[in-house]
Amino acid sequence: MLRSWRVFSYIRPYLPVFTVSFILMGVTACLEALLALLIKPIFDNILGFAPNSVQSQIFTLPISQKKIFLEQINPFPFKEVWLVLGCLIVIATLFKGLAEYFSTYLLNYMGQSIVMDLRNQLYERVLNQSSSFFHTHSTGRLISRITNDIEKIQFASSTALADALKQGLTFLACLYLAFAIDWRLALASFLLAPLVIYPSKFFGKKIHKSSRSSQDKMEEISNILQETITGHRIVKAFGMEKFELSKFKQATRRLARINLTWVRVHAIASPFMELLGAITIALMLFYAQNRISNNQMTAGSFAVFLVALLKMYEPVRRISGIYNTFQQAKGASSKVFEIMEEPPEVTEKSNAIRLSHFRQDIEFRNVSFNYNDSRLPVLRNVDLKVSLGEVIALVGTSGSGKSTLVNLIPRFFDPTDGQILIDGIDIRDVTLDSLRSMIGMVSQETVLFNDTVHNNICYGREHVGEDEIIAAAKTALAHDFIEQLPKKYDSIIGERGQKLSGGQRQRIAIARAILKNSPILILDEATSALDSESEILVQKALSNLIHGRTVFVIAHRLSTIRQADRIVVIDRGQISEIGTHTDLVARGGIYQRLHALQFVETDTAQVS
Ligand code: ADP
Ligand code: MG
Repeated sequence: MLRSWRVFSYIRPYLPVFTVSFILMGVTACLEALLALLIKPIFDNILGFAPNSVQSQIFTLPISQKKIFLEQINPFPFKEVWLVLGCLIVIATLFKGLAEYFSTYLLNYMGQSIVMDLRNQLYERVLNQSSSFFHTHSTGRLISRITNDIEKIQFASSTALADALKQGLTFLACLYLAFAIDWRLALASFLLAPLVIYPSKFFGKKIHKSSRSSQDKMEEISNILQETITGHRIVKAFGMEKFELSKFKQATRRLARINLTWVRVHAIASPFMELLGAITIALMLFYAQNRISNNQMTAGSFAVFLVALLKMYEPVRRISGIYNTFQQAKGASSKVFEIMEEPPEVTEKSNAIRLSHFRQDIEFRNVSFNYNDSRLPVLRNVDLKVSLGEVIALVGTSGSGKSTLVNLIPRFFDPTDGQILIDGIDIRDVTLDSLRSMIGMVSQETVLFNDTVHNNICYGREHVGEDEIIAAAKTALAHDFIEQLPKKYDSIIGERGQKLSGGQRQRIAIARAILKNSPILILDEATSALDSESEILVQKALSNLIHGRTVFVIAHRLSTIRQADRIVVIDRGQISEIGTHTDLVARGGIYQRLHALQFVETDTAQVS
């Protein structure tokens, strides 16, 4: 509950801005009321709607004296009143406009700034979360928090807040005016208010409901479109054009019907409301006529009263919309802060040291691990020491825990038990930055950003010379195909740009790892998603990359693993065998069985 109000703590730095704009809003509201008040002299002094008693006196006067008399009851001569009034109206409107402009701008400035701060902070929090965070929060949900939910807060804290203040203050100013003119009439009109407010709410709901179902129907139509346009071949192949057309026709008919319902409600609403308004005014006229003829009120005052009342209607009408906006923002805000407050699982110690080099070994010491949502441990008591320059292959059935094991090295997760040491230093005692700079990764799902080839290769590194990038691309066997791209190294990869094959993407990822030049390398099924032809190329590129590094390699095809210095067989989260290829084949354990299976596979693959 409290969470949703935390957004207000973001207002604090903008409090001066808020105060100024609040004052300007007040000025706007007062000028709005003043403008209503300016109607009074028009009626009372210019048009000559003087009280009855005075009027009857005028009628009895000869024409020559009429003007003199009118000038007597008017403090100003005729023409000047027109002039002064005209000027006042223009000036008041001008200042009202200026105050409104600046207050709206300032409030929106505040709203936009708050939301910018909030969005940046949220994104920073999300980026610094550990991998398990990303497993528990889906991509869609996170994106929606950072975009949609914050958008809702933005709307509430700028546009809607400005609106609420302006409407609220105008309402108060007009309310004051109405009561000041004639409190009895004001009270009476408030008793009539439900007569106008209830129906307007009723219509509002109906309109909302019908526009909702109109949206649903529109969605139905776009679904049909999407299915049949992307699947146009299937539609044709099965001769389903007629069927799809009739389905579409039904959907458009439903949409038209719903839209007409909306039109009906919408079209009746405003005449009906106007009628109710007219009835209200008629009732008030009846009362006013009484008071005017008894000289308890002037016609001008009544006109001002009516205008003030009408000006109050708009704020009342808008209040529920504004309230809804704030409710939505409250919900969104509590969702945003739920993520903001989630403590990151992998954190850096305040006294973390820089890991400046890697000289000896990486050691897994009695490491156990389980994902927080699984009770069974994924890794159990893993003990493994890997020396500098060694190539270690991890082998095991799918789900045995190989990826989990290597993901512990860059601290995507922390072990539940035991420690991982680099040169004898627990990796939890070093800064995340320095640890991760030691590690290069190429995995099955290559991540390339929607950017140029050049920027994708030097991702995470600044000030890299063109020649270095080209050298890395050459070592990764990527240079040749990059040269074939329309803009070479400046071609955009990804959604909007060049489509690359799996093998090409993988070689760009390898070039990136080569450029990073980190002493430790993790290859997690880097070739698994590739066809055998591109696999050969990637394989070559990988052996260029591996050269001179300490490597953890996970691969499905055992042929790629044979050259490893040692092979570690993982079975249900435990190390079951360690040794060289020949050792393990001779031992006749799990590795031997996997090898025998694959041998048959590769043989048949080669035959076919
Ligand atoms: P491998 O790479 O050997 O195929 P993984 O290390 O990916 O295996 O997975 C080991 C086990 O951990 C599997 O049983 C898998 O279902 C589980 N697992 C993997 N990732 C997660 C996760 N983020 N949350 C919960 N369980 C996971
Ligand atoms: Mg895996």
